[in-house]
Amino acid sequence: MPTQSKIDYEKLLGRLQQNVSSTNRREVSRLEIPDPQVIWIGQRTIFRNFMEFPKALRREPEKLLLYLNKELASAGYIAGDRVIFLGRKEPSSFGALIDRYVKDYVICPVCGSPDTRTEKSKKLGFLLCEACGARSSIKGNYA
Ligand SMILES: [Zn+2]
Repeated sequence: MPTQSKIDYEKLLGRLQQNVSSTNRREVSRLEIPDPQVIWIGQRTIFRNFMEFPKALRREPEKLLLYLNKELASAGYIAGDRVIFLGRKEPSSFGALIDRYVKDYVICPVCGSPDTRTEKSKKLGFLLCEACGARSSIKGNYA
């Protein structure tokens, strides 16, 4: 590899890393969200490390699965640590879905803290923030 292109490559890599850290990852950085490992086996999509996510986000696995099924228009089911979806779902879409879930159902809309828990009251869901004490309503039944 000629020296010139090696330098360009390193420059590019640096730029990519900057982009990653300056987008909405920053907002959720304290959560240490794992990277989704998604593969296709035949006509099925396997989300191999699914169980790491409810653990990291402190949410019920069933709720997160409900959300993914709605967004992917699928009926995936839990098998051990994995979730199996019928059909080929785009592996790269899972990271964005998780990010959106975190934004809508984990992060406190008042102070941006991820240290929240959920509460049900008269069939409505609420997000209780352990950092600022805010109580926010949440839409849907996915938290
Ligand atoms: Zn808060």
